[in-house]
Amino acid sequence: MVIDPQHIIPRNQHRVSKTDISANALKVLNRLNSAGFQAYLVGGSVRDLLLHKAPKDFDVATNATPSQIRALFRNARIIGRRFKLAHIIYGRDIIEVATFRGEEIEAADQRTNVRGMLIRDNVFGTFEQDAWRRDFTINSLYYNIQDGSIVDFTGGVLDINERLIRIIGEPIKRYQEDPVRMLRAIRFSAKLNFNIATETASPMLQLNTLITHISGSRLFDEITKLYQCGASEVAHNLLIQYKLFPILFTQTYALFDSDYPVHQLLLIIIRSTDRRILENKPVTPAFLFAVFLWFPLRAKTKQLKADGLPALAALEKAMSEVIAEQNRVITVPKRYTQIMREMWIMQYRLPKRTGNRAFQMLQHPRFRAAYDLLIMRAEAGDEDTTLADWWTTFQAQDVTEQMRMVQDVSQRTEGVIR
Ligand code: ATP
Ligand code: MG
Repeated sequence: MVIDPQHIIPRNQHRVSKTDISANALKVLNRLNSAGFQAYLVGGSVRDLLLHKAPKDFDVATNATPSQIRALFRNARIIGRRFKLAHIIYGRDIIEVATFRGEEIEAADQRTNVRGMLIRDNVFGTFEQDAWRRDFTINSLYYNIQDGSIVDFTGGVLDINERLIRIIGEPIKRYQEDPVRMLRAIRFSAKLNFNIATETASPMLQLNTLITHISGSRLFDEITKLYQCGASEVAHNLLIQYKLFPILFTQTYALFDSDYPVHQLLLIIIRSTDRRILENKPVTPAFLFAVFLWFPLRAKTKQLKADGLPALAALEKAMSEVIAEQNRVITVPKRYTQIMREMWIMQYRLPKRTGNRAFQMLQHPRFRAAYDLLIMRAEAGDEDTTLADWWTTFQAQDVTEQMRMVQDVSQRTEGVIR
């Protein structure tokens, strides 16, 4: 296959070098090439190498079909429902290998639903077609290990130099095909500190509601990636600017102008997440969603109590309703909502410290997360700082002093479900 030389950037005219590429990715590329297939490094890895950043993972594009890939690699797993991919597994390191995908030209109406969204997208295509169906120009650069060149059909190198997120093709059509591209544009803009090109940005305000047609579990993955991109403060502001936030977090947004310190709390969790990512500390979506939904939970509990439910019953019902409502758009997996519930219940237990309670609470597997939420609430002005300080001190004392602290609490009033 001959590639128009105008799309080829030779090895001496860019800064990607073979030595930057993981040994496993090289192995995959070499084996595909040796078997006579075209194979390129593509996507985030080429983009990040051009930006002198360490790639998160290495993706490969090839003209070998999934079954041909499987025949070449003992350690290949074919995955995916919407489109089939191969994962080549080297322990914890996975190289994702995708067969070139084609454009949705002929009989497009059969593969898109009434809203123009792609429902079937597994048509193999040529190298160049693969480039045009990717999302952004900066993600559509291909590195050829055989001669060290980069193949750029869509103008991605120029956009990398100008630090621009530009969607490939006709923006409205591309967002209609897959509305998740709006969230990806925002994530890459924040993470890379790139601007979004005007034509790429402007349709988003008018197409934002399309996001509700995406499955809740895919949205959960995308939103988690967005808030864990390390620059989530910027990403969050873009979600608000493009009016995506009210669609994604309706209950939280509804309280933006309330008396609850919603903005303060969101800013605290967002900045803390960015800091933790920067320091390579672990983060969990359970914590993020527990914080985002904290005030909706407070408001709902209050309302149910006013309706006459006893405090604990109101809290239980409010937790279920708030989670169910959130799940209508972003489906939070059970393993996380379970943790969120425990963190929430503990907010109402942390003020009650008499007898054995404080000591039991320290042993609770969710104590640390619940305590961290308490600290953030205190910082936001949602809880008395003396309670947060009490727990901070309590953890640092020996048992004798801890018992004295508990004695001291008994003299005072204890918290109730508000
Ligand atoms: P990251 O650094 O987050 O891994 P990435 O660009 O590699 O960034 P992936 O989600 O790993 O992102 O996807 C790999 C590549 O697949 C992208 O670079 C892009 O070319 C293509 N791609 C991913 N999602 C879409 C989409 N929704 N529409 C079109 N192309 C996509
Ligand atoms: Mg990737």
